[in-house]
Amino acid sequence: MDKILEVKNLVTGYQGKNTFVKAVDGVSFDIDRGETVCIVGESGSGKSVTSMSIMRLIEYENGKIIDGDILFNGENIVEKNNYEMRKIRGSKISMIFQEPLTALNPVFTIGRQIVEAIRFHQSVKKKDAYKQAEELIQLVGISDPRTRLKQYPYELSGGMRQRVMIAIALASNPQLLIADEPTTALDVTIEAQILDLLRKLKKEKKMSIMLITHDIGVAAEMADKVIIMYAGKIMEVSSAEDFFENPIHPYSRGLLESVPKMTGERGVKLNSISGSIPSLSNVPSGCRFSPRCPFATEQCMNQEPVLENFKDRQVACWNIDNVLHDHVKNQKDTE
Ligand code: ATP
Ligand code: MG
Repeated sequence: MDKILEVKNLVTGYQGKNTFVKAVDGVSFDIDRGETVCIVGESGSGKSVTSMSIMRLIEYENGKIIDGDILFNGENIVEKNNYEMRKIRGSKISMIFQEPLTALNPVFTIGRQIVEAIRFHQSVKKKDAYKQAEELIQLVGISDPRTRLKQYPYELSGGMRQRVMIAIALASNPQLLIADEPTTALDVTIEAQILDLLRKLKKEKKMSIMLITHDIGVAAEMADKVIIMYAGKIMEVSSAEDFFENPIHPYSRGLLESVPKMTGERGVKLNSISGSIPSLSNVPSGCRFSPRCPFATEQCMNQEPVLENFKDRQVACWNIDNVLHDHVKNQKDTE
């Protein structure tokens, strides 16, 4: 397949008082053209730092890429200067964030903000840009564009504002859309509408989407490929189909088991992963998940597993055989 993005051994972090804290520590993955990749993990696992590194916005947050390559259409983003980056950012790669109100300027109308985004990327007259803005606003499912474009952000609901942000992100016709928890601040019905919209846009515009979420349910609905992150590392990379049929890494399994199942049984206690994600200034030796892992052995606590090919996926775990054996045993027990 044709790769639009290749992240290779990315190490990004922040300078602390005495040490450099690696929020992303040796992360590698690819995104194909037209593919939706979901990055899933608990709070603090390094999802946003990964996306801010790809956008090269990390520098503006006091962070630093200290190792690795990020190839976008084969060109290394890590080596680009600010001027070159400005040409890529917001045009070939666009990003939408969790809280659309803070990203919109409160003192300008929606129309003005979309028109500015269009004219930033194309040399068109104001009138033509306004026409395009109307089309964009319709494309993201907002009716009565003329009225809407005259309104200010505070006059719109959260869901509408997120649609406007998506319209702005699309103004440049990006090849890759990075969406960092785009629906977390929205209620579930609006979330479903925004996810539908992203699916539609992906199909119509043949965009690649990198969708960041802590909600495995969102990944189940959206992903072609799933990447599971934990404490700055990738634990599993898998096609969505394989992943949701049989996740392999114990952390992946824990994430899936913590989702309520629609079995109709009441009073069933949800399994959740005990413990919490480690502090980056004090990561456990060996596998970072080992203190919380039911399969952990001596080796796991001492030796860090590498992300290795396993059948059609990649998994960073020393105990794949035991995990799979346990899965077969549990299946037999429930038969
Ligand atoms: P969430 O689901 O809460 O958004 P995340 O996976 O996106 O979590 P990141 O924002 O990528 O997590 O942060 C990973 C870690 O990087 C944080 O736990 C923190 O230790 C560190 N970090 C992030 N931003 C900064 C910053 N501006 N300064 C210092 N450390 C930071
Ligand atoms: Mg985040």
